[in-house]
Amino acid sequence: ASTNHFLEVKQIESFYGQIQALNGVDLYIDKGEIVTLIGSNGAGKSTTLKSISGQVQPKKGTIHFEGKEIHKNQAHQTALLGIAQVPEGRRIFPRLTVRENLLVGAFAVKDKKAIADRMERVCGYFPRLKERMDQPGGTMSGGEQQMLAMGRALMMKPKLLMLDEPSMGLAPIIVQQIFDIIKELNKEGMTILLVEQNAYQALQIANRGYVIQTGNIVLEGKGSELMTNQLVREAYLA
Ligand code: ATP
Repeated sequence: ASTNHFLEVKQIESFYGQIQALNGVDLYIDKGEIVTLIGSNGAGKSTTLKSISGQVQPKKGTIHFEGKEIHKNQAHQTALLGIAQVPEGRRIFPRLTVRENLLVGAFAVKDKKAIADRMERVCGYFPRLKERMDQPGGTMSGGEQQMLAMGRALMMKPKLLMLDEPSMGLAPIIVQQIFDIIKELNKEGMTILLVEQNAYQALQIANRGYVIQTGNIVLEGKGSELMTNQLVREAYLA
């Protein structure tokens, strides 16, 4: 199999019991890109991310990351290879403090100095987290919890960061902040796969994008091209 791309997903089919959620999804990401996956509710966006991260094992198809086959991996194995997923709905630990939540992301790191360095780096992106280190995660606003979920993923120092609807339920000004940080992370070299229903903003920052409908990729192109595409305009930007 050719594995020239950083991440290469080929013809994956994923199921929940009898329900087929993905019908042969193809996509790739090159190092340094922001790629967005857009689509409506239930189209298969989350399932695509879960299939990559190993939370769901595709029944058919292949996934390669840096040339390695990962589609049979369990989630922790894929995490150790450098793929982090920020789940839809953040899924922080509400009763743990901000610091404890962040430390969960560094579970595989033993070196205290390395952990402290990463913590400092994360606080550089999200100064709000620094102010709230000892506060329970669950007492923070939705935007802060999104920042915490992203911070936790960054504590892994991932090579590929996958974000599942980071803007969901957030006020426009907070959405703008989150997107600014995504752009900044990417500028510093982070490769990003961004799942969004907020197609307009996602396509604006993405190098390339894919449109998924009922478990199939129906369109792909540069962010700027998709933004002017008729189907995208009618279905997702209206
Ligand atoms: P959303 O934005 O609503 O999360 P999505 O594009 O991420 O949508 P998926 O969550 O990937 O869509 O869902 C794809 C299909 O799989 C849908 O038909 C959905 O109903 C189904 N599905 C998702 N999770 C499960 C589950 N745990 N059990 C059964 N079916 C599921």
